Amino acid sequence: MPFETNAALAIEPIERASRAEIVALQEKLLREAVARAWESVPFYRQRWEAAGIRPGDICTLDDFLRLPIVSKTDFDADLIAHPPFGTYQGSAQQLGRVARVHASSGTTGDPRPILCTLADVERIAQLSARRLRAQGVRPGDLLQVTLPYTLYIGGTIALEGAMALGAGVIPTGTGAMTHSRRQVEIAHRWRPTVLCATPSYALKLADTAVAMKLDPAKDFAFRMIYVTAEVLTPELRREVGERWNAEVFDNYGSVEAAASTYECAAHCGWHISEDAYIFETVDRVTDQPVPSGEDGVLLITTLFREAAPFFRYRVGDIVSIDSQPCACGRTFRRMSTVKGRADEMLKLRGISVYPTAIERVLRGFPELGIDWQLVVDNKLSAHEAMVEVEAMKGLTYAERTALANRVADRLKETIGVLPEVEIFDPGTLFPNPDDRAKVKTKRVIERQSKPRSAPPLWTD
Ligand SMILES: [Zn+2]
Repeated sequence: MPFETNAALAIEPIERASRAEIVALQEKLLREAVARAWESVPFYRQRWEAAGIRPGDICTLDDFLRLPIVSKTDFDADLIAHPPFGTYQGSAQQLGRVARVHASSGTTGDPRPILCTLADVERIAQLSARRLRAQGVRPGDLLQVTLPYTLYIGGTIALEGAMALGAGVIPTGTGAMTHSRRQVEIAHRWRPTVLCATPSYALKLADTAVAMKLDPAKDFAFRMIYVTAEVLTPELRREVGERWNAEVFDNYGSVEAAASTYECAAHCGWHISEDAYIFETVDRVTDQPVPSGEDGVLLITTLFREAAPFFRYRVGDIVSIDSQPCACGRTFRRMSTVKGRADEMLKLRGISVYPTAIERVLRGFPELGIDWQLVVDNKLSAHEAMVEVEAMKGLTYAERTALANRVADRLKETIGVLPEVEIFDPGTLFPNPDDRAKVKTKRVIERQSKPRSAPPLWTD
């Protein structure tokens, strides 16, 4: 059984396999996955038939490039035509074998359901266990998981991966589920060794500990912080690690990609579990493969999923894939951090700008909080933009203006555009939690700016 894992092994044999062995396994799994989808997933069969492809045509990774690329809008159109679950879910739905329903955010604003069979859930748990193992988690460790247990898969992946590995879990959920002071008390008394959190919540818990007269670096047993769901800059990684006196591991995640990648102790990108996924990068415009090490749009293919399989699914993240050997000894290729979103790239005064690049600059200012958005004014012919960001604490008018000027200068230096910058008091940028949630997935909003003398934004 190639999928069998052994908790005692730090590195599984397949993680050290030669390129030829990995490709042979991928091609075998690909043939099986294509045959399954042809039989039971009308969404793909129709597209492949239209492209003149039969399952027997797809035998090698070269053949694989003939499969048409699919995007979020294809899934959303399918959902509208075939409610409630679309035709992309496949046999699990027909056979009534759905174990769990997750969802990612659709382009229509409605959640896009992604069904899982029990086998899918178990395989994802094994991949999550591999990830945690690569990050030093072992049986006997205790994880405090402060990620949400919702349609989004992040909390569930951490919980089930830890259990599959033989470690224990304290499923406290987010601060909305277990108050931050209670989270700190639990961490202090029960001595969990791993904290799973967003970077911003890891910092909030450190602040809460200090407010409770505890020292995050000394009074807790955390030796590892598992973070996900937000951009982790090198500065932020250092800050989280220093405050908790623990090693920080960044985890790339989405409902579609699940636990497909993992950072190892070398901290140089995310290894791709290539025995379960094919990751490709293609040119944003031509869709042609880009060479190893160059930026392109990420496409993912799942090799194991029974329900809701993905074939050449355009995730939209701009990344590069590195084939160079890793210091850890693993041979799975590595994906870079996300450099932007293909569909969110903006042209501001002729310059390509990714919201992620702006976020990196903002995160370099300790005076700024994590809530921000880029407002693009569609009224003017030349696109103008304004960065709206919250301060960590209330500021005087003079302090606010000085900080805004420094942020604008840094943006100009780093990404070559000079948007207006407006600093908001903490908690005032998104008085409505729904707006905050929306902006977290899409940082750019378009609207007509108001005259500068208008009352503060978001009051209407
Ligand atoms: Zn490595």
